[in-house]
Amino acid sequence: VSISKAELARREERARIADSWLWRAVTGMVTEGGGQLVPRPVFRGREDLGTVRDAGPADGLAAARALEIAARLKVQGYIRDAREEGMGWKRIGELLNLQREAERQDITVADAAFDLAAGPRDSNWAMTYGRTFRWDCASCGQKIDDEGPESWPGDFRHGHGTGCRRLAAEVRAYNRQAGA
Ligand SMILES: [Zn+2]
Repeated sequence: VSISKAELARREERARIADSWLWRAVTGMVTEGGGQLVPRPVFRGREDLGTVRDAGPADGLAAARALEIAARLKVQGYIRDAREEGMGWKRIGELLNLQREAERQDITVADAAFDLAAGPRDSNWAMTYGRTFRWDCASCGQKIDDEGPESWPGDFRHGHGTGCRRLAAEVRAYNRQAGA
């Protein structure tokens, strides 16, 4: 996977902004909940270089964990929006920065995105019931049980209505990619 220098710089900048907003979110949650902030050195172990107000460990753990869970749900919601807008799993995986993760697991970026949306493939639930990610099709108005990038979109199990245009377009795209 080759990621351009410009893209790497954008990601670093995004991570820096996220860290800054996360600090605001964590400290805001603690003070809104009636908790106290404590001084923390800007650089660990160097009190002489200045301090910032931050959550103590117990409040910080609870707040950061609640934000982590909320952020995951937010990601799921945006994946759903993206699928409803017709965005493919590969593009979703790229936007989720999953290239390295996919490489590590020796799977495609599209599959890594679906794993993140639908949960791990080797879970007991997935092995028993299969994995789907649900979204609403704007073309036919049906609820779609998306089975991921590897499944043929024309499968009746996915739930598109008869004559759905989105379905027809997805089948064409899939067949094109498969060289059919
Ligand atoms: Zn449809």
